Amino acid sequence: MSEELLNKEPFVSVVVPCYNEAGNIQALYDQLAPVLASYTSHELVFVDDGSKDETVSLIEALSKKDASVKLIQLSRNFGHQAALKAGLDSAGGDCVISLDADLQHPPELIPDLIKKWQEGFEVVFTQREEDPNLSWMKRATSKLFYRLSQKLSSVQILQGTADFRLLDREVVDVLKQLDESYLFIRGLVSWVGFKQTAISYKPQGRFAGKSNYTYRKMFSLALSGITSFSIRPLQLSMLLGLFIASLAGIYGLYVIYIFVFTEQAMPGWASTTASVLFIGGVQLIMLGVLGEYVGKGFMEGKRRPTYIIRKPKT
Ligand code: UDP
Ligand code: MG
Repeated sequence: MSEELLNKEPFVSVVVPCYNEAGNIQALYDQLAPVLASYTSHELVFVDDGSKDETVSLIEALSKKDASVKLIQLSRNFGHQAALKAGLDSAGGDCVISLDADLQHPPELIPDLIKKWQEGFEVVFTQREEDPNLSWMKRATSKLFYRLSQKLSSVQILQGTADFRLLDREVVDVLKQLDESYLFIRGLVSWVGFKQTAISYKPQGRFAGKSNYTYRKMFSLALSGITSFSIRPLQLSMLLGLFIASLAGIYGLYVIYIFVFTEQAMPGWASTTASVLFIGGVQLIMLGVLGEYVGKGFMEGKRRPTYIIRKPKT
């Protein structure tokens, strides 16, 4: 943050992606409004990600009463990451704070985020403490993902960092230039660098409705998180291939030894079948990994926009 900003009132943007969040909009606004009131210039950008419920009309009603409330409506459901990107792209603040609509990210933390920013950090992310409300399955899969991504990818993502963070204008401008189809904003934020810091918080349960992240969406997000930052899985395939090939080589030597130097007939059927199946399986997995990258390259090659904004009807 530049010197001149320190002396003037900052313009604070808050970005909230919403997908079928009708039950949460009002409660979220009621919690956000008093916090934001202490910053004279602020905006609250709701991005509607193709909701099928009352979300849009609720946001429109809010924006009629409060001029700082803005609505960006996507033409269909593009997914959380794309909605978040749409919000970041259109936010005008000196700093931009993103949080979920379901009140799992406590708005009371916003002043702390801004304080850190004013101390000179350009990225202030939040790290949730272990959440007892989450299902066992969700906690386990999330842990597994962070472990895996740390092993497989060059970009380090800390356990429990969600898309609840503050970004300086400069960082937002950098992110704006990136238009990748497979967005994993957490990874990109870590990748861009700048001065980063974290604050931790106790997560709350979802206020209303249920999580929109199905296991399928979580899986594809996790896959994007790993494959868009690293080609290590491809390198691992090669290592695994080499490993299996050398095992096969050793076994081959053994087979030759048996054949040449002993009288034993070759029973062999079970071991042949097993090894064929094993190698077939490994090959299919590796083909899948390869296909993931080729497919992503193919989709990126089309250069389709990450999201489409529907113009407001007046
Ligand atoms: N969301 C979205 N598009 C989607 C799915 C989710 O904009 O396709 C929003 C959702 O409204 C919420 C945030 O992304 O504000 C996080 O979603 P959710 O709470 O369902 O995920 P979880 O907290 O369970 O990871
Ligand atoms: Mg949530």
